[in-house]
Amino acid sequence: MTERLLRFRCTGCGNCCKEPVLPLTNEDARRIADATGDAPRDFVRFLPSSAIAMEHEPEAFLQLRQGRRVMTLRQVRGRCRYLSPDDRCSIYEARPLGCRVFPLNATFGRRDGGLRRLTLIQATTCEYELDGRQSIPKLRALAHDYEAANARWHLWIREWNRVQAARRRRGLAARPASALFDFLGLTARRPSLGTCPSRR
Ligand code: SF4
Ligand code: SF4
Repeated sequence: MTERLLRFRCTGCGNCCKEPVLPLTNEDARRIADATGDAPRDFVRFLPSSAIAMEHEPEAFLQLRQGRRVMTLRQVRGRCRYLSPDDRCSIYEARPLGCRVFPLNATFGRRDGGLRRLTLIQATTCEYELDGRQSIPKLRALAHDYEAANARWHLWIREWNRVQAARRRRGLAARPASALFDFLGLTARRPSLGTCPSRR
């Protein structure tokens, strides 16, 4: 499978921008807000465990007033809100790391950094072709960035949840999403990006 998928080529079918729900990190949200000028409340959606299969990642859940939630990229009528009508990503340069990684799941050796395994993330019907050429150094760098960004995000989540647990011990409710955005320093800025012609 690994050798085969090194020939993976995205055909731009757009399925991965419609079906799966994409978890966001605080850095993804910051990048999108900076690029678009959109307020986080407009592109973020907080989902309960019943709406996203992530119970195996308890560190990804934020304690909010409405309950335990995962921060995700908002969809509108079954499409990512940044997917343009011609199925192109309208925030290509600022898209989340999860979009950049999908659908390849690469595993590297801790000691020598060699590619151990390359599999497909089974979250949608990926209409790929096998006439491309994946760069192992690029896959390695992306996997490293993705893992590091998630580790940083989980530290923010842990700190937020610690503060909410302390509030609960004082008989207070957890704070709402608007307070989380303040806590993360997510405020809208001027847009800087246009539409990119290629998706991935
Ligand atoms: S941000 Fe772009 S690449 Fe990611 S799901 Fe939305 S449209 Fe697709
Ligand atoms: S990664 Fe797969 S599902 Fe997503 S646009 Fe490319 S071919 Fe389609």
